[in-house]
Amino acid sequence: MLALMLAAALADPGAGISETLARERAAAISSLRYELDFRLPASRTQPIRARAVVRFRLASPHRIVLDFANPRDRVLSVTHGGNSVETVLSDDHVTIPAGYTTKGENELTIEFIAGDDSLNRNDEFLYTLFVPARARLAFPCFDQPDLKARYTLRLDVPAGWQAVANGAAGAAEMRKDRIRLAFAETQPLPTYLFSFAAGKFQVETATRDGRELRMFHRETDPAKVKRNREAIFDLHASALAWMEKYTGIPYPFGKFDFVLIPSFQFGGMEHAGAILYNASGLFLDESATQNQLLGRASLIAHETAHMWFGDLVTMRWFNDVWMKEVFANFMAAKIVNPSFPEVNHELRFLLSHYPAAYDVDRTAGTNPIRQQLANLNEAGQLYGAIIYQKAPIVMRQLEMIVGEEKFRDGLREYLKKYAFANATWTDLIAILDTRTPQDLAAWSRAWVDERGRPEFMASAPGGTAQRGTITLTLRDPLRRGLVWPQRLRVTIGDAAGLHHEQVDVTGPSTTIGTFKEPPDFVLPNGGGLGYGLFVLDESSRTWLLAHLPEIPDAITRAAAWVTLWDNLLESRIQPRAFLDLAMRALPLETDEQNTQRILNYVVRAYWRFLPQDERLSRASALESMLREGLARGKTSSQKSAWFSAFRDVAQTQEGLAWLERVWRREEKIAGLTFAETDEIEMAMELAVREVPAWKTILDTQHERIQNPDRKQRFAFVRPALSADAAEREASFERFKLLENRRREPWVLEAQRYLNHPLREAHARRFIRPSLELLRDIQRTGDIFFPKRWMDATLGGHRGEEAVKDVNDFLAGESQYPQRLHWTVLTALDEVVRAAHAQ
Ligand SMILES: [Zn+2]
Repeated sequence: MLALMLAAALADPGAGISETLARERAAAISSLRYELDFRLPASRTQPIRARAVVRFRLASPHRIVLDFANPRDRVLSVTHGGNSVETVLSDDHVTIPAGYTTKGENELTIEFIAGDDSLNRNDEFLYTLFVPARARLAFPCFDQPDLKARYTLRLDVPAGWQAVANGAAGAAEMRKDRIRLAFAETQPLPTYLFSFAAGKFQVETATRDGRELRMFHRETDPAKVKRNREAIFDLHASALAWMEKYTGIPYPFGKFDFVLIPSFQFGGMEHAGAILYNASGLFLDESATQNQLLGRASLIAHETAHMWFGDLVTMRWFNDVWMKEVFANFMAAKIVNPSFPEVNHELRFLLSHYPAAYDVDRTAGTNPIRQQLANLNEAGQLYGAIIYQKAPIVMRQLEMIVGEEKFRDGLREYLKKYAFANATWTDLIAILDTRTPQDLAAWSRAWVDERGRPEFMASAPGGTAQRGTITLTLRDPLRRGLVWPQRLRVTIGDAAGLHHEQVDVTGPSTTIGTFKEPPDFVLPNGGGLGYGLFVLDESSRTWLLAHLPEIPDAITRAAAWVTLWDNLLESRIQPRAFLDLAMRALPLETDEQNTQRILNYVVRAYWRFLPQDERLSRASALESMLREGLARGKTSSQKSAWFSAFRDVAQTQEGLAWLERVWRREEKIAGLTFAETDEIEMAMELAVREVPAWKTILDTQHERIQNPDRKQRFAFVRPALSADAAEREASFERFKLLENRRREPWVLEAQRYLNHPLREAHARRFIRPSLELLRDIQRTGDIFFPKRWMDATLGGHRGEEAVKDVNDFLAGESQYPQRLHWTVLTALDEVVRAAHAQ
C-alpha cells in the first residue's frame, strides 16, 4: 500500500519544472552544495567540459531529479559516493533512482558538456544569465528558487582572461597558456542568482566606506571610463549605505563587484556580489540628459536594493517574482529621487504607472498581480503591466495604510526572519498585519490575488447631494463584492479655488465631505493617489471639459486627463469633445510630462475613435496646432514630442508635402536634428499614406541607411508598406515561418504597418491568421512577444467586423490556454470600445 502510494506520487517529472516536482524536491533535500568546475576554451564554438559535485542531505532514500535541458549524450558520467549510477535521462532531467541514495549525506558527481544557451558566449568573453530557470540549460541542478545552495566555483580559462563570480576570487594558478581560478564558497543562493563572467575585461577598483568595489568592463574609450568611473562607484556606495541603514542589515554577500556587458539583455541583473549591467546604461555620453542621469542612478539603486530584496530573501516560487521587482523599485525611488529635486517625481510616478496599468486592468483580459504558475517553463508569461505598473501603485498604498515607519519595521523583521531563505507574499502580509488595525489579508485579496479595478462614482455635487454631502460609491465590476481599501486625495474645485481632502476608502460608500455651496467639480483621484475607474458626474464632466487647462496644479491636471480618457473609453464622453479640449489645452500646457501624455491620447483618439471622413475634416486644424507646438518647444525633447505626434497624424496635402520636404532635407527645424531612425520613420509614414513619390522615397531611404542592421530591418519591413495589396499579403505570409519571426521588433513593425488604420479594410484578412499564429508565437518567442503581436495586429482596427472575427476565433477554440485568451481580450478591448462609440 505504502509502496503503491509512493509510486503514484513519484510520477514522471515531465517537461520543465512543475510545481509538484519543486515541492517534492524542497521537502526531501537539504544542506545543498554545488562544486562546479568549467573549462572555458578560447573559441566560442568549442564545447565546454565541466564537472558538478552535488552534496545534500536526505531524511530517507529518495529519487533525485536534476534539471538538465540538453541532449542526453552531454551527460558523460554520474557517480554516487564514487560508484557508478544508472540514471534515467529525459530531455529536461537526469533522474537518479532512490535505490542509489542514502539517508543522510549524499554526493553525486556528474561529468558533462555544458549547454551554451544561457552562457552568452562571445568571441572574447562570456557571461551567464540564468533567470528565471535557465541554469538547467548550462549545468545539472535543482533549478528552483527555494533550493538555495552554497556554490564553490573553479574556472579554467585562457591566459589573459579575467573572471568574476559571486564568491570572492581566490588563488590563480598559471599553467602554460591557461589559468585556473578558484572562487570562495558563496552564501546560500538560488540557481537564478548564481553567475560568473569571464573573458577580456578591464578592471577598475575603488574603495568606498572601507569596502573595495570592483568594476569589470570592455570600454575602449579611456575618456568615457574616466568621465563615468567616480560617479558609478559613488552611486553604488550611497545605495549600499542607504540600504544598510533602512534595513538595519549589513550588506550580506561579502565582496561587491559589477560587470558592464555590451548589449546586455536587460538594464541589469542582480547576481549576488556580481551584478551584471548593460554597459550603455552606466557609461553615459557627455551629452547625457537629466533623464538619463536619473535613469542610471535608479538602475544602480534598483540592483543594489535587490541584494536584500530577492537575494537575501528570495520568493519561494516565481509567482511572487513581482515582490522583488516592486521592492527594488520602491527602494530605488527612495534612494534616488531626493537627488533630483528639479523633477516632479509625483507626476512622473502617476504618468508612468497609472495609464499603462489601466490599459490592461480595465480589460476583460486582465490578470491578478499574483498568479498561479504551474510550471517554471511558463514563468515568462507572468511579466507585464500588472507587475511593472500596477504593483508599485499597490505597494505605495500599502505603505500609506501601514505608515512609513511601521512599514519599514515590518520589512526589517521580514528580512531578518527569512534571511538566506525564502518567503512568500503571504509571509510578509502576516508580519505587516500585526502592525496595523486594518485587515491586510482582505486588503491583499482585492489588490493582489484578484484581477481588475474598482469603479467609483461621486454623487453629483449640484444635484442629488443630501444637504451638500458628497459621497463616493464603489462598485466591483466583476460582481465579487470586493472593496479595494485605499487612500485618496480628492480634489474639489469651487469658487475659492482647489482644495484636496484626504479620504480613506474602507467600504462601498465613503463620505467625502459636506459643502455649503455645490463645488464646480469633484475629482476623487485629483491628488494622484486613487486607483480605479472614476466615473465623472455630469457637472464635474462639464466643468472639466470646459475648464481643465485652468487647473493650476500639474498633478491634478494629469489625473483629470487620465480620468477623461477612461470616461471616453466608457462612452461617457464624446471623442469629439475630448479632442476639442485637447486642442485648446495643449497650447496652454506648461508641464512637458503632461504635454507628452495629452499628445499620446490625441493620436490614439484620432485614429481609433474618429471615422476617416471626420479625421479629414479635423486634420488641418490639428496639424496647425501641432506645428505651432513644434515651433514653440524649448528643448529638443519637447520639439521631438510635437514632431512625432505631427508625423503620426498628418493627412492633409499640405502637411504631407511639408513632411516630405523635411524628409528630403529641404526644410530644417530649428532646434531639432534628425537621426537615421527618425528619417526611416518619416519615410515609412509617407509610404503608408501613399504619397505620389512613395516608391522612390523608400528606394532613397534604403540607399541612405548607413547602419547595416537598420538596412536589413528596413528591407524586411518594406513590403508591408507597399501600396500593392498582393505584396502586403505576401509580406504577411512570411510570418508563418519561425525563421522569419526571429527578429521580433522587425516583425512587429511590419505587422503594425500591414494593419495601419488607413489600411483597415484590407487588413481584416490578417486578423484570423494572426490569431492562428499566436500559440506558436508564444511557444517560440520572447516573453513580451505574444502581447505585442496582438497589439500590432489589432491596433489599427476599430470596426464591429474585427470584433466579430476575434470572437469567432475564440468561440472555436475550446481548449485555448487561459493566459493567451487574456492576451487576446486585452488587445481587443479598445477595438470593442471604439466599435461601441460609433
Ligand atoms: Zn529587478
